[in-house]
Amino acid sequence: MAHILIIEDNENNLYLSTFILEKHGHRVSAARDGEEGIRLAEELRPDLILLDIQLPGMDGYAVAARLHNSASTSSIPIIAVTSYAMAGDRERILAAGCQGYIEKPINPETFLEQVLAHLPSDLSATGK
Ligand code: MN
Repeated sequence: MAHILIIEDNENNLYLSTFILEKHGHRVSAARDGEEGIRLAEELRPDLILLDIQLPGMDGYAVAARLHNSASTSSIPIIAVTSYAMAGDRERILAAGCQGYIEKPINPETFLEQVLAHLPSDLSATGK
């Protein structure tokens, strides 16, 4: 069981992601913009961060760079969640400090597996 911070401004995506993760026993915290996400990441030290790239104000690339370059959050894996499908975005996402990439729209059948692939095995186990 893992504690996952979701930084996402779209309520439908936030709801679906939270539902899937909580259904499988994981704990979810949510932020609706980058500033709140950075604050919660520092305060809560989640096991993993799911980061929307298209956010109001500070975008996901800037959020990832800040988290990656801050000593208190640099060890937390960040997975980008984005609908951008253009060539080069994956490289840009990885360059910003993200470890992986999940494409929107979220596929409920594969989402959990995609998230858990980035967690150590003791945390990726399904909860009680
Ligand atoms: Mn968004």
